[in-house]
Formats: sequence, structure tokens, C-alpha cells
Amino acid sequence: MHRVTTTVEFCYGHRLLDYGGKCRYLHGHNGRVEVDVESRSLDEIGMVVDFGEVRDVVKGWIDSTLDHRMILSNRDPLLAVLQNAGEPLYVMDVNPTAENIAKLVFTVARERGVKVSEVRLWETSSSYATYSLPDAEKPGEDGPSVSQRDNA
Ligand SMILES: [Zn+2]
Repeated sequence: MHRVTTTVEFCYGHRLLDYGGKCRYLHGHNGRVEVDVESRSLDEIGMVVDFGEVRDVVKGWIDSTLDHRMILSNRDPLLAVLQNAGEPLYVMDVNPTAENIAKLVFTVARERGVKVSEVRLWETSSSYATYSLPDAEKPGEDGPSVSQRDNA
């Protein structure tokens, strides 16, 4: 299996609802997104995909949509206050955890035609969250592989 990875860095703020730790307060991160594209075969040039193509799509969307914004849940009582103050926001219908932001980037990239297999969002230099294709949808040698999951 071939895999290429493109990295995009951006700054964002957020806070988590229904959470007892420090992340319930507004704070920010220098986030790093790593986007993987996998393929069993290479194109005629010898590539999985053009790095620039993946980067243009993912970085373009992140720069215009998430970079230097507060990413907040649509249930967050601060939404109205920050909107009235003219703060740039990105509103999610789920808690803006690293897990959910990784899934968001994955979903947007797929919708825009990038055949992403996995997205990792590094929230700090020591912690990241991953969202990837379900096993059954990964490119396989003999058709879709059987998904084996322990969690019921
Ligand atoms: Zn945080």
C-alpha cells in the first residue's frame, strides 16, 4: 500500500461543553492537520496523488473557514455574544473536540474529491485525534475487507 501525507497548520480557539477539565474555558491551539491518501497502485507519473492538489483543497478550506476562528458548538451560550462582537466563528452541531474537528476535515476533503484515508489533528505537540475510513471502505486486494470490531 502506498500512502502520502500532507500537513496543514492553523490556529484556532474553542471550548468544550459538558466537560469538567480546563478545556471548558475559551482557549486556543496551534493545530496541525495531517491528511493521508492511500492507494494500492500509482498513476502513470508514479504518484498516489499530487501533493499540491491535496494541499490546495485542504489548506484552502482550512485557511478560509477554520484558521484564526473560534470553533464552537451550536449549543454554546457564548455564540450570540461573540457574534455580536464581530468575532469570526465556526459553528459545529457537535462539541468541537479534536476528534470532531478531525472528522470535519476528513468529511470536507472527501466532499471536495480528495480520496482521504485518514486525518490526524494534532491539538498539541503530544496529543492528536484520528478519523479514518471504516475498514470496510479501505482499498483492499480482494475487494472490501471484513470489518473486525471489538466494540459492540
Ligand atoms: Zn483545546
